[in-house]
Amino acid sequence: MSKSKALVIGAGLGGLSSAAKLAQTEDYDVTVYERMSFAGGRFTQHDHDGYQIPTGAVHMIPHGKKGPFADLILGKKSKGGLDLGRHGVELLPTSHFACQMIDGKFQGANSIYGVLPWFTAKDTLNMPRLLTKGAKQPWGDESEDGKTWLNRHFSPQFVDFVDAFSNFAISLRFDQMPASSVVRVLQNSFWSDRPHVPKGGCKGVIDGLRKDLRENGARVKLSHEVTEILPGSAEEETKDNRFCVGVRRRGREEATWVGADSIIHNGGHPNLIKALSDDFEVGNDVKTQIETTQAVGGIGFCFALDDDIPVRSSGVTMLPNLDRVGGFVIPTFSDPSLAPEGKHLMITHQYVPDASVKSEISKGREDLYEAIPWLADHGEEICVHTYHRNWPCNRAPQGAELPMDVGVDGIRCVGDGVKGHGWMMVEGISANVPYAVDEIMAGMN
Ligand SMILES: Cc1cc2nc3c(=O)[nH]c(=O)nc-3n(C[C@H](O)[C@H](O)[C@H](O)COP(=O)(O)OP(=O)(O)OC[C@H]3O[C@@H](n4cnc5c(N)ncnc54)[C@H](O)[C@@H]3O)c2cc1C
Repeated sequence: MSKSKALVIGAGLGGLSSAAKLAQTEDYDVTVYERMSFAGGRFTQHDHDGYQIPTGAVHMIPHGKKGPFADLILGKKSKGGLDLGRHGVELLPTSHFACQMIDGKFQGANSIYGVLPWFTAKDTLNMPRLLTKGAKQPWGDESEDGKTWLNRHFSPQFVDFVDAFSNFAISLRFDQMPASSVVRVLQNSFWSDRPHVPKGGCKGVIDGLRKDLRENGARVKLSHEVTEILPGSAEEETKDNRFCVGVRRRGREEATWVGADSIIHNGGHPNLIKALSDDFEVGNDVKTQIETTQAVGGIGFCFALDDDIPVRSSGVTMLPNLDRVGGFVIPTFSDPSLAPEGKHLMITHQYVPDASVKSEISKGREDLYEAIPWLADHGEEICVHTYHRNWPCNRAPQGAELPMDVGVDGIRCVGDGVKGHGWMMVEGISANVPYAVDEIMAGMN
């Protein structure tokens, strides 16, 4: 009997990990189509003279070995994981749980409790309450914005520290999120492991996923863009499938038609809506939610550093009180292979409050040279990346997740438009992938 055809649109982390889960069942004929000439989307890197420059993610797994990402990527198959340790995927701990630099001075903590001495007695008293608060036990008015809520219970220094963290990690300030989301994000971060760096950078994980896909007979077709999704009956050659999918190879005008019985879409909700023909009905409420959800942008600098830098930590380092930049990481203190021998790679991140990207870049640069006293002597700017439109930091602002089901049987969305409540970045993507795959499998029975 021929296998059910599963088509995955987009070879980002969400698409590849969903494809790997489906392929491991051996019940599906899986093909991933990716419009770019490389796999991994915003979770991989390009080599620049030995520096592993990210396409997005700054080589950090936020919750290390205790989060949904590690459960999915490294977990045993019997527990719903992909067990990619078999293909050499490894997570290396960062030097600290969290760090900050204030007035040019670096502080590093090995646990959440190590952070407390940096702040006031009020923070020490209220932190356990924040960490143990049940989701359904309101503590003050949690519908107000996160910053106003935090200011009620914590010192300005503590609020500045976690707000810099929010800027760095999710490219939003806490006054742009409801307090209930802020509480969940902080609980998930504080209760978890320290951040880890994938061995070989993000690409190490992508390579592991691709090896696993190959092992299970799945294909990844690069430079192939999915342009349209029609009912299978639309073309003679796809009439036995549920969907008829238009795929255009880079450099070719015409799309060819391929059949699919189920689709995992990793290219973002607006792209899915654009591709769906009028034969499919998507509810107006879902369409409106998608149209009104703005992707979140950001800016990141990469610096080459010499080996004489005084800060020798790969911990996520917050830069509180700056106008633009939230913080930086130097992942080469966990995995030296991310830079040439004797050198280090530093990656910064800043949110974008204003659409005038050029002036935002200048403001970020000013912030960095002011806040990091040794940068001018020991660093050289390699590049600056802006993330926006179809290549954003986050397709949906944290806390405003879109549905994985837009109302079309046999299609489910994955990726950073669809994250579990309170889970950030790749942790959020990984938290959702098993549900999306389960629903696809249930729909085929
Ligand atoms: C600057 C920055 C720093 C970050 N740092 C971190 C970090 O350190 N840690 C962390 O956990 N997260 C981080 N993130 C977030 C993380 O990188 C992203 O959330 C994640 O990589 C997104 O994965 P995704 O599954 O949504 O897929 P994406 O990476 O968005 O990939 C989707 C793929 O689909 C393809 N595609 C789209 N439409 C089509 C189509 N029609 N046909 C074929 N292919 C299509 C695209 O080309 C793309 O390759 C960062 C993001 C940015 C931008």
